[in-house]
Amino acid sequence: MITPDYDGPSVFGYETDVLTRVAAISAHTSPLASLGGKDAGGMNVYVRELSYHIAKQGLPIDIFTRRTDLETPEITYPSDGVRVISIAAGPPAPVSKHDLFQYMPEFAEQMALFALRDGTHYDIVHAHYWLSGFAAHYLKRYWNIPFTMMFHTTAHMKNAFSPAEHHEPEFRERMERRLVTLADSIIAGNPDERADLIWRQRANPEKICTIPPGVDTDLFRPTDQVQARGRLGLDLDDAVITFVGRIDPIKGIDTLLESVARTRELVPDRRIVLQLIGGDLDVAGNPVGPLAETAAQVQRLGIEANVRLLGSRPQDQLPLFYAASDLVCVPSRYESFGLVAVEAMACGRPVVASRSGGLIFSVADGISGYLAPVNDAEAFATAMARILNDRTLAGEMGRAARHQAERFAWPVVAESMHHVYLRLAQGHRAQLCCEDEIFA
Ligand code: UDP
Repeated sequence: MITPDYDGPSVFGYETDVLTRVAAISAHTSPLASLGGKDAGGMNVYVRELSYHIAKQGLPIDIFTRRTDLETPEITYPSDGVRVISIAAGPPAPVSKHDLFQYMPEFAEQMALFALRDGTHYDIVHAHYWLSGFAAHYLKRYWNIPFTMMFHTTAHMKNAFSPAEHHEPEFRERMERRLVTLADSIIAGNPDERADLIWRQRANPEKICTIPPGVDTDLFRPTDQVQARGRLGLDLDDAVITFVGRIDPIKGIDTLLESVARTRELVPDRRIVLQLIGGDLDVAGNPVGPLAETAAQVQRLGIEANVRLLGSRPQDQLPLFYAASDLVCVPSRYESFGLVAVEAMACGRPVVASRSGGLIFSVADGISGYLAPVNDAEAFATAMARILNDRTLAGEMGRAARHQAERFAWPVVAESMHHVYLRLAQGHRAQLCCEDEIFA
């Protein structure tokens, strides 16, 4: 239990002497979901890791997520001080996130009933993604406690960078604007998102805190490349590029594949191998769903010999794939933060990433890797070839990358969030800009 040491007038009318427990809401996807699938990626990792580290600092967290089957127990205990609570709202089956909004009042009601049955008091609601924001808004009024909102991605930003056929509905944009007003505090993942919230969504700057997501610098650390290649059946002379992520148009995989075709010409002395991690394989190991479309593009480009479609992998296997790489490519059209880039950097590998969203702030162009214009396969190929043709440069960039990734270690990030919770629970505005410290 933590006692805030602040005093002074409360701007919201909330007052509490201690912080006892946080209610985090991740309604549309569970922190326990396996990663790399359609709707499970960075946000799931974020919610899981943030909760783990906040609880480790002495503040317990309950994470509420929608029940999607009948088997999961109502309460699971993934780590000390963290509970994941399965809330029945809507059918106990997977439902597209586009159809979930209608169940949010029921979700909030069931959360409130759970708290009554369990005899639990919460001091803060922390909502992840816009759908959870609505449940948080109801509960804020019912429990009379503040709520902090983290969008992770907004429809506005996503639509600005996606092809029209993949645009998010206008309804979501409107609802997000509403949440910008309703939330007591908003956590932006990077300075770009903060600027967008203020200038385009007209958010009150006083209630925005910029806190980046973190990285597990113990799991993701530099290890031996030779050994990793041996385990993965790769030659020491291979030029190994790695991609990790959901198979989604926003990830720019099409650009990456085109650039691999071009990199073959720019790095003629080495065999190019792209390890593509993410998406689904059937029992025979054949790509299915969106990954089958990726496989078709690989064939059209005639680069089958250069691409390994590995499907999604548990996160604890990723350090091996990063270690075997010469570089990791993050060609996303937009990325609110881009955990993969920072994981690769923490493993001491250079990153070639799009000059977009949070990547601009995590990858230092020319130091820990290169930034290339979105959709520009030629620029990606040139940047990758520069690293692949110069092992000294690759080594220097890898060392710089690790050094920079250490800024995003979870204990540092969790402490900033903890500070925001404390300020809010006491009724203060919690403007906190770690931009200078973390994004320096
Ligand atoms: N990830 C994983 N296995 C996979 C694919 C992804 O563990 O097969 C993890 C990856 O380590 C990262 C997260 O999923 O932590 C993806 O986060 P990122 O911010 O890069 O992308 P998002 O999913 O948020 O768009």
